[in-house]
Amino acid sequence: MSDIDQGVDDMALLLDDEIWEQLIELTDGAAAFCFQCGVCTATCPWGTVKQRPLSVRTLIRQAQLGLVEENSSLWLCTTCAQCETYCPRGVNIAEIFRSLRFVAWQRNQAETGLPTLLWSIYWNENPWSQPPSQRSQWAKNLAVPLYDANQHELLLYVGCTSSFDQRAQRIARALVHILRAADISFGFLGDDEPCCGEAALSVGHRPYFKEVAEKTARNFQEKGVSQLVTISPHCYDVFKNHYPNVSAGFQPYHYTQYLADLLAAGRLKFSHTLDHKVTFQDPCYLGRINGAYQAPRELLLSVPGLVLVEMEYSAENGLCCGGGGGRMWLETPLGERFSDLRVSQAAQTGAEILVTACPFCVTCLEDSLKMDKTTGLRVFDLAEVLEQTL
Ligand code: SF4
Ligand code: SF4
Repeated sequence: MSDIDQGVDDMALLLDDEIWEQLIELTDGAAAFCFQCGVCTATCPWGTVKQRPLSVRTLIRQAQLGLVEENSSLWLCTTCAQCETYCPRGVNIAEIFRSLRFVAWQRNQAETGLPTLLWSIYWNENPWSQPPSQRSQWAKNLAVPLYDANQHELLLYVGCTSSFDQRAQRIARALVHILRAADISFGFLGDDEPCCGEAALSVGHRPYFKEVAEKTARNFQEKGVSQLVTISPHCYDVFKNHYPNVSAGFQPYHYTQYLADLLAAGRLKFSHTLDHKVTFQDPCYLGRINGAYQAPRELLLSVPGLVLVEMEYSAENGLCCGGGGGRMWLETPLGERFSDLRVSQAAQTGAEILVTACPFCVTCLEDSLKMDKTTGLRVFDLAEVLEQTL
């Protein structure tokens, strides 16, 4: 075993032949393709912030051998898929992590705090332990109508974070202004908006995610939703890739894709000049996982005066903010946050504004900037930047 793979070396091991079979079933065979080259361990960003890297290869090998132990490193993975970009066997590594987490749930070995997260979705319809009756407070005074399939071409799916988090609420309000400027008829679901369940999926609780997804999909069907835009790439990803019968039901878009289409069709124009140098943080669930690298850049480049400079690691090689895979609900010690690295990479470009398109990225990056005020950078969601140009 190399130094890099010594992250899981001090546990008592238990052999369980069923683990491998279960993992193969859960990952549709993905785990079988791993031939133990170790590229995943070497390219995982935890290796740049922790003394002991996340030993991805060893975790997969242990699963292949049916070795089971309680292992807290299982909950480190942000499911950013950076390792998958380099894996020579095309292994769906994030899916393996979700599957191993599911096995941990079955053995009552979930990380502390995560059962509370799921209970919050169950009781409050959101993972933030917020009262559902406050869900539409972000839209107070905006007069956003409740969605009516006979009147509206689009459902604005706000999502839990932009509904309840005060910082992220500003993104939702900005998007409302942009959609109105483009003359789009849209509505939202108010206090009745259901959770998409992404938090449950990301921490590996498949049966509960399935339950939430089926209920929410039914809700959309009953309301006659044909297309919706999301603010969070995480909501977009579950609707697009993990929901039942989506193709027979509604078409999900991330708002950057929807606005880029409007721009191309001439229905949206940004006329006010913004003389700023900006750089763009690709949210993993928009870029690497769903391939939408161009839409946000097309929008930025359409703003008069804006200059876009790329970070050294961007697009396919972009660095995760650290908030995916359920990490938004788990503590990451100072000095071990991907977002600390990311803001310093952004500052090196000479940009004044670090733009992203995800409420999790905004939160993580702003938290890092609060700890390092020397960069002079500000963080905005793309919707907030575009709102300034209307
Ligand atoms: S990079 Fe792919 S093949 Fe190599 S150890 Fe990791 S998962 Fe296995
Ligand atoms: S998905 Fe991201 S965090 Fe998880 S093992 Fe791969 S590179 Fe590391």
